[in-house]
Amino acid sequence: MIHRGGCHCGQVRFEAEGEIEAAVACNCSICSRKGALLWAVDAKKFHVFDAGPDMGAYAFGKRTLRHRFCRNCGIATHSEGDGFVAINIRCIDGLDPAKIDAVEFDGRSV
Ligand SMILES: [Zn+2]
Repeated sequence: MIHRGGCHCGQVRFEAEGEIEAAVACNCSICSRKGALLWAVDAKKFHVFDAGPDMGAYAFGKRTLRHRFCRNCGIATHSEGDGFVAINIRCIDGLDPAKIDAVEFDGRSV
């Protein structure tokens, strides 16, 4: 199915296709601060509507991920990797994160 979501103010809107069977709770330095629950999809199944200059990008460490966020409201919606996108399921419209199984991932050790 198609999932739609976005940031708080609505400048960044996206849609993704697939089934959310579980979410990843990562303990790395950025995910633990954001409190993000991540669902990874193939980059071809993800689309961001034109957010223009409102969408920022942040990278650190090995810079293998581009962490995207809304420059207006500050919400971190997703991160882009090589061929995949990790979506913060807390930003998906109408989804109750408590109903999705969370799988812990030790990103801090990676
Ligand atoms: Zn926003």
